[in-house]
Amino acid sequence: MGFDYRSGVLCAEQISLEDIARQFGTPCYVYSRAAIETNFARFAAALAGRTSLIAYSVKANSNLAVLGVMARLGAGFDIVSGGELARVLAAGGNPRKVVFSGVGKSEAEIEQALRAKVLCLNLESEAELGRVDAVAARLGVRAPVAFRVNPDVDAKTHPYISTGLKDNKFGIAYDDAERLYRDAALRENITLTGIGCHIGSQLASAAPFIDAAARILALAERLARAGIELSHIDLGGGFGIRYQNERQAPIAEFLDGALGMLAGRKEMLMVDPGRSIVGDAGVLLTRVEYLKPGESKNFVVVDAAMNDLVRPALYGAWHEVRQVREMESDAVAGVYDVVGPVCESADFLARERSLAVRPGSLLAVMSAGAYGMVMSSNYNTRPRPAEVMVSAGAALLVRERETVDQLFAAERLLP
Ligand SMILES: *Cc1c(COP(=O)(O)O)cnc(C)c1O
Repeated sequence: MGFDYRSGVLCAEQISLEDIARQFGTPCYVYSRAAIETNFARFAAALAGRTSLIAYSVKANSNLAVLGVMARLGAGFDIVSGGELARVLAAGGNPRKVVFSGVGKSEAEIEQALRAKVLCLNLESEAELGRVDAVAARLGVRAPVAFRVNPDVDAKTHPYISTGLKDNKFGIAYDDAERLYRDAALRENITLTGIGCHIGSQLASAAPFIDAAARILALAERLARAGIELSHIDLGGGFGIRYQNERQAPIAEFLDGALGMLAGRKEMLMVDPGRSIVGDAGVLLTRVEYLKPGESKNFVVVDAAMNDLVRPALYGAWHEVRQVREMESDAVAGVYDVVGPVCESADFLARERSLAVRPGSLLAVMSAGAYGMVMSSNYNTRPRPAEVMVSAGAALLVRERETVDQLFAAERLLP
């Protein structure tokens, strides 16, 4: 979304990606603010009329400009580290709309979150409850907490991004939940605020999400009967997007089911979408360096690589690759693997694509806005790409391209 052809050239909103490449160089990530806002509006519309909070999952794309756009839309934030909390605050996010998730919060991070007065910490173990209680006691405050409960439903997604099954590291076991809530309720420095779950990412259908919601609600009712009243229910993120030809269930299909079950209940409904807000609102723009025809395979070697976008190498993820210019003179048509310069056979961005390109052609790796730049690395001492956001008719640099000097500035030679 936000990326269409105009007079044969792929544009971000109304700005040609050729102009962006000329101005900012390649590889670079390009985001469309309008696309981000449209995606957010879909959640807002589906939740209209219900007390709710859309807590954007920062880990999907944590660029300050993205967070700033979300803050201005009134979004909350789902974070998984002290670093992400610092980013949210730097971008003007409201700490009272921040939920701190993650299995391994350090003492320093817990203290940072309590001092910032976040909405709640989502606890994922009994040991963590003890730690949060102790930090809160030391600071003389009450820590607002929810438990992330593992509803043990199969999200039917890639095993690396499935998180709601019994043997995942995430959340507390469903059958332990009541005991832990009773324990927490007795602690002086803990305030129980809610309950949450998150079963995985890139969910293709609403059924597992709704199953999980039903199980979480049943638990909330059981807790209420035990005298433990909660003020919010967090159903997580995971709303899938279309990369290839997957069916993309409309947001309403996920949320209407949950809203139906919640009818008549007073808890605030929270969701924490990441991918579905930024995924299709970004592309990775890259330039062809070489064509390398072979006996059994043809390669297009581009200037972006697995260190810039690791999803294909890590998950076997499929991203559409589009020619920025639909038709080019001297282009060589063929079926190509699109690969980068990194010295790994897993360094591919796409396989077996029909393209007509030549050295110097620009390609756009589509739907790269989520889990793209945030998972980038400097492997092979490759500076990370620039990030550009198109907003109100202008292309703005929102992160400078790294320089090689920066990559080893913190390193020291032995004396
Ligand atoms: C990663 C994560 C999300 C976001 O997942 P998406 O698939 O990007 O929507 C939401 N909630 C929690 C707790 C997460 O860990």
